[in-house]
Amino acid sequence: MDQKTFDKYVLNTYTRQPITIVKGQGSAVWDDKGREYLDFFPGFGAGNLGHCHPKVVEAVQKQLHEIIHVPNVYYNNAQGELAKLIIENTFDGQVFFCNSGAEANEGAIKLVRKRNPNKKTIITLKDSFHGRTIAAVTATGQPVYHDGFDPLPGGFEYCEANNVEMLKSMMNDGIAALMFEPILGEGGIVPITPEFMMTARHLCNDYDALLILDEVQTGIGRTGKLFAYQHFDVEPDVLTMAKSLGGGIPIGAFAVKRKYCDILKPGSHGSTFGGNPVACSAGVAVLKAIADENLLENATRMGDYLRAKLEILKTKYTIIKEIRGIGLMLGMELTIPGADIMQHCLKKKVLLNCTHKTVLRLMPAINVTKYKIDRVIRVLEDAINTQLAWGPQS
Ligand SMILES: *Cc1c(COP(=O)(O)O)cnc(C)c1O
Repeated sequence: MDQKTFDKYVLNTYTRQPITIVKGQGSAVWDDKGREYLDFFPGFGAGNLGHCHPKVVEAVQKQLHEIIHVPNVYYNNAQGELAKLIIENTFDGQVFFCNSGAEANEGAIKLVRKRNPNKKTIITLKDSFHGRTIAAVTATGQPVYHDGFDPLPGGFEYCEANNVEMLKSMMNDGIAALMFEPILGEGGIVPITPEFMMTARHLCNDYDALLILDEVQTGIGRTGKLFAYQHFDVEPDVLTMAKSLGGGIPIGAFAVKRKYCDILKPGSHGSTFGGNPVACSAGVAVLKAIADENLLENATRMGDYLRAKLEILKTKYTIIKEIRGIGLMLGMELTIPGADIMQHCLKKKVLLNCTHKTVLRLMPAINVTKYKIDRVIRVLEDAINTQLAWGPQS
């Protein structure tokens, strides 16, 4: 289909690049004109294994031939298997399945609200991102995402990321939960400090509140651990995930510590497609591939490699302000808007992302190789030089 026809029929809620992507394999995608691109932001965070990982394709195909959907009033093996794998790799508890990150966060919000009638308020962070449904968008601490959607649900308060004193001053017995990303993703790749993380955990213990970590973007091996909280000496009470969990197939989930597993009872929460066997068999294949192919180790090694290369660029160009992140979740903050640099990379067939206006976000597949990283660094340097020579392009 030509892009004009597409635009006539699809609601215009995204800033779309004029590229029709028709095929993907690993870190490569191809457009309808046969041009190949190196994708360093596969699936907008949903592509930790790259495109069309063969084990995911195989698992999904096998499941499609058996049964596509099973209602949640019956048992389905794939759902149980994925829940078991998630729990074995996190903490003792149980899992609820849904279809997206926003929905996972909605479920977590419902759980902590249901627990205690005197504790309803949830503290989230400024510049956070938790999704687009009405409660998740309210949890999102960025006014730009709220604009015009009022009335928003009440009971959300916003703390500055890594401001320990502010967090302490906001804490009281009416707080149901603290909810944040271990690394603010959309908010510009801002890692939470160990001090803030520990303080959050201790405050939750002291005030009988729950710690919800949103690992929709940081999870599934992105940072060199299966979940980013595993870099810290804490455990959350509720852990939300989505994006890469299905290897590109839509899925979301939250895991709950065992002692909070009886808050949501039969009838209190649900999702028609949540835990769908096709999505869950993809999830099982993803988690097995990460283990079998040593992808956590690769994410750590390639993360160090990419970071070192970016640090070298930083010593050469004063427009690079800071390199931030953990593992293969890296951001390069510029002193100028990053949109033109991103566009230049696109012309050179490298796909990156720019978030928070000035932060280039590099999140390649965690099975990426040094060779591909070197190519991206060359293109990025060329883009920076072009920017410096010609100034703003748009
Ligand atoms: C993308 C994202 C979400 C929303 O996920 P959807 O699947 O788009 O609903 C929530 N939280 C974080 C941290 C995200 O990066």
